[in-house]
Amino acid sequence: MMQITMPLNFLGTVYREIRQSLVDMGQMFDLLEQPAEVKDKPGAPALKVEGGSVELRDVFFGYDASRPILKGVSLKVPAGASVALVGPSGSGKSTIGRLLFRFYDVNGGALLIDGQDVRDVTQVSLHAAIGVVPQDTVLFNDTIYYNIAYGRPDASRAEVEAAAKAAKIHEFITRLPDGYETPVGERGLKLSGGEKQRVGIARTLLKNPPILLLDEATSALDSETERDIQDELKAMGVGRTVLSIAHRLSTIVDSDEIIVLEHGVIVERGRHEALLARGGRYAAMWQRQQAEEQEGEAA
Ligand code: ADP
Ligand code: MG
Repeated sequence: MMQITMPLNFLGTVYREIRQSLVDMGQMFDLLEQPAEVKDKPGAPALKVEGGSVELRDVFFGYDASRPILKGVSLKVPAGASVALVGPSGSGKSTIGRLLFRFYDVNGGALLIDGQDVRDVTQVSLHAAIGVVPQDTVLFNDTIYYNIAYGRPDASRAEVEAAAKAAKIHEFITRLPDGYETPVGERGLKLSGGEKQRVGIARTLLKNPPILLLDEATSALDSETERDIQDELKAMGVGRTVLSIAHRLSTIVDSDEIIVLEHGVIVERGRHEALLARGGRYAAMWQRQQAEEQEGEAA
């Protein structure tokens, strides 16, 4: 009996692990919407990151040829600077993030990191250089430790805990009955939106990428949670190149440049104060959000 049940149990475990890793991969691919079409050039070198500057040079792109989404977008994020993309839903902001990861290739123009076209380097090296903090951080059905260490699986326990401390989630974890070994995700403890985002921040801090892409989902977090997390997001951006996609303009007032995108075209650009003084699209968006916030607080 032993001889036969042992291998069967073993196979059961292997099967479960394979299935779990497929689920995890599925979540990753959903999250990043990664199609499998884009391939490395034969013999492509790794990206050589110096400061981590990002440039879009006259980028044209459409998911299908009949419908252009980006129509000649040019922007530069100097190494260590922060640029924010704002604009109505559907204007192409998240698309720029996907192109930076080279999930799709542009139809015209180029995206460059430290002067290297993203099409000319390996995708592995490209992805290693960019950290993403989505507001709807995907949790794997595993321990909270695994979920943070995912940012750099070879990190030491001390490094994982240091990242959790910097993301202000360590205290919360140590109060859980099983601490870092607590299972989370669909089959474990459900975390709030803010806690999930702190896990995402800790993961990214561990990965330690020179470039950060922050894509703020429209409504994943309430404004209180979002305000709460701003300090950690800001601290994470120090010494990195940051491209943020923002819905709440209050989070990007300090950006080195704010770019207003509409229907795939840049319609305004500049710093917060200058854009307000200009009295155009950005100023109108700002006034509308200020009014909404005051209504929200009065209610
Ligand atoms: P934003 O982030 O500014 O709200 P997106 O960049 O996500 O806008 O989308 C820009 C446009 O591209 C939208 O019209 C959207 O419907 C379309 N789009 C986004 N993803 C895809 C896709 N995978 N296939 C086809 N169209 C898409
Ligand atoms: Mg978007």
